[in-house]
Amino acid sequence: MEAFRIGFGYDSHRFEEGRRLVLAGVELPGETGLKGHSDADVVVHALIDSMLGAAALGDIGSHFPDTDDRWRGADSTKLLLSVVDEVDKAGWSVGNVDITIICERPKLRPHVDTMRTRLAALLGVPAACVSLKGKTNEKMDDVGAGIGIEVHAVCLLKGKNQ
Ligand SMILES: [Zn+2]
Repeated sequence: MEAFRIGFGYDSHRFEEGRRLVLAGVELPGETGLKGHSDADVVVHALIDSMLGAAALGDIGSHFPDTDDRWRGADSTKLLLSVVDEVDKAGWSVGNVDITIICERPKLRPHVDTMRTRLAALLGVPAACVSLKGKTNEKMDDVGAGIGIEVHAVCLLKGKNQ
């Protein structure tokens, strides 16, 4: 078995009035939420895809189909915990993750440390192994027009038997 595997994940959701905004398992009170079958936690979804990608275990849609009522309104952190478990069973543990969130609003900086701590706890790694960066799209394209949030994530998995 190789010692390391890298994976990349991407997700995007558009804003929808009347929903809560949950990013990286943290609710940002008073902010417009995102449209989605689950809680639409775009950060956790991209992270899950990076982990599944690193382990070559498919993607979030194959594990938690949005046609399945079990995942309607689901807490995405529960999906993440189940992926952590699956990756563990496949012989891998998380080395580090690096996540970029792109949106014009809300301002992410005040929430970054809370989100990092939350993700680290879910992944079972120190917060120093979780990087989270927020940026705008400089008003370009749909994300720049404030229509939604985009997230890119990479994850390094370490072989547990090395
Ligand atoms: Zn998603």
